[in-house]
Amino acid sequence: RLRPMPRGRILVVDDSAPVRAAVAETLRQAGDLAEVLEAEDGLVALRLMAEERPDLVVCDLVMPGCDGIQLLRLRAAKPELASIPVLILTADTELDRKVELFDRGASDYVCKPFDPRELVARVRVHLRLKLMAEDLAAANEKLYRLSCTDPLTELFNRRHFNNVLDVEVARLQRYGIPLALILADIDHFKRVNDEHGHPVGDEVLRRVAVTLGRSVRKADVVARYGGEEIAIVLTNTGTAGAFVLAERLRAAVETTPVQAGERTVRCTASFGVAAADTSADVTDAAKLVTRADCALYAAKRDGRNRVVMWSPALEPAASDPGA
Ligand code: GH3
Ligand code: MG
Ligand code: MG
Repeated sequence: RLRPMPRGRILVVDDSAPVRAAVAETLRQAGDLAEVLEAEDGLVALRLMAEERPDLVVCDLVMPGCDGIQLLRLRAAKPELASIPVLILTADTELDRKVELFDRGASDYVCKPFDPRELVARVRVHLRLKLMAEDLAAANEKLYRLSCTDPLTELFNRRHFNNVLDVEVARLQRYGIPLALILADIDHFKRVNDEHGHPVGDEVLRRVAVTLGRSVRKADVVARYGGEEIAIVLTNTGTAGAFVLAERLRAAVETTPVQAGERTVRCTASFGVAAADTSADVTDAAKLVTRADCALYAAKRDGRNRVVMWSPALEPAASDPGA
């Protein structure tokens, strides 16, 4: 999608006030093109680039103090400024010099004395490219968010959960930072669907997701693991902290009735918790999931609406050597 005449904020940098005024006036006269900012030297320009985020910089090459080359050099050291194109105004017609400008990150140059039509034409091209790059970055950002999100609950999805868990287990292995995993499963959820219908079931899921999301820290990751199962990765949290939190989550679900249309639905959930306090506890993500799942199974078996912490005694082989 091309925008025929993009609007933009343009920063004009020149030590000569009359030249600066001429450039600014040319750009302003190009109609809807420009909101123009001005700076009298490279250092002021860099500050304005950081503060005002112009869409384009038109910069004189030769200035006392911080000149155009130095502006390009300092800009190269600041990644957040790299997306702002710089067009250099130069009286220098030597080829080596022009090539050097591109090597240093300039997007274009215009020779002085400049023809207003050429200046405006080139400014248009670079504004268009800048705005297209922004649109693309925004679209990518949106796609990335979608690729991590469960559409029903707007929690993170299983894919993102897997990525986060892998990263956290790696952090545990490398730096010894503890982590814990909670698997929550709504109790008798099939009955909710059967008694109230699937749309009410969906609403219950959404509300439980909100309840759980509200009760954790910002750094914790709440994800829809499967149908009515929600996984919570607790970063930098050991066994004791994980238990306290899971119990708080359990109580929150139990005491928060869901209003779905005319109906009020009460539900509970069961929680299985596996914590890795030291790097010796858990070496891979799959193991942590298996343990949390095993604890969840025990919570269901023991009567539901409860929290069970994983321990070796829960494993079938350990609890019943004869089996
Ligand atoms: P338990 O206490 O043992 O967990 O019993 P349960 O009924 O919750 O468990 P079960 O695994 O037998 O049934 C899960 C139900 O969750 C069945 C399925 O239709 C329902 N479910 C899964 N995903 C969704 C969903 O996105 N929306 C709705 N409304 N229901 C769902
Ligand atoms: Mg269930
Ligand atoms: Mg289930």
